[in-house]
Amino acid sequence: MPDAAPDPRSRELAERYSAARDRLDAAADAAGRERGEIELLVVTKFFPADDVRRLIDLGVRSFGESREPEASRKIAGIADGGKRPGDEDVVFDMIGSVQSKKARSVAEWARTVHSVDRDKVVDALARGAETALDAGVRSHPLGVLLQVSLDGDPHRGGVLVEDLPKLADRVRAAPALDLRGLMVIAPVDGSADEWMARAAEIRAGFVVDHPEATELSAGMSGDLEAAVAHGSTCVRVGTAIMGPRPLVSQ
Ligand SMILES: *Cc1c(COP(=O)(O)O)cnc(C)c1O
Repeated sequence: MPDAAPDPRSRELAERYSAARDRLDAAADAAGRERGEIELLVVTKFFPADDVRRLIDLGVRSFGESREPEASRKIAGIADGGKRPGDEDVVFDMIGSVQSKKARSVAEWARTVHSVDRDKVVDALARGAETALDAGVRSHPLGVLLQVSLDGDPHRGGVLVEDLPKLADRVRAAPALDLRGLMVIAPVDGSADEWMARAAEIRAGFVVDHPEATELSAGMSGDLEAAVAHGSTCVRVGTAIMGPRPLVSQ
């Protein structure tokens, strides 16, 4: 074996990342969409900073994390000098639910939070982002996607469709926040295609009132094709690239 052979984990990640990109290319083709309209966010939750570094070497630039303080620790572990959230080419998004008391640290590293579903979180992120902007820790407002409940079950997270307009207004009123669009997680029961069609319908109504907020974060390892068919602009892929998640987070 040549000396410069990548380690086995890097090879495995390279293969899986390449396969995920092929899937996304095929999904975009099948939907008659430009591949460039769809971001591939690699979800690295539970996996170590070493894997994030390997993925950066493979050309990955957008990552999704779901928990504090795991995310902060990991990002500190890979930061190269002088780079800051929001103005560098490697970005991290928060895709998991945000506890109010963690909002301040999330606002220091996240480009966008995908999982905003209630007033309290909006207010906490607004304060955190303002502090981070004032301190020069971030250079752009914090992106916000409103997580919408597709099945109306409040226990599973996500704002109810009827409460969406008020929540959106609250984000729009916060100068340190930038309303970018919506996020959905398809419930496991039923057809992914039908859930994603429902997401597309909700989004179509939403952009009438918020024409700049066109992003739709939808689709994971198991349902990215359905999401892309229904207009997803960001798929969040963990398992298909990283392999099964370890039981204990990093
Ligand atoms: C973990 C997670 C993902 C990735 O899921 P996979 O099925 O592993 O691709 C996507 N979105 C959210 C909100 C997650 O928490």
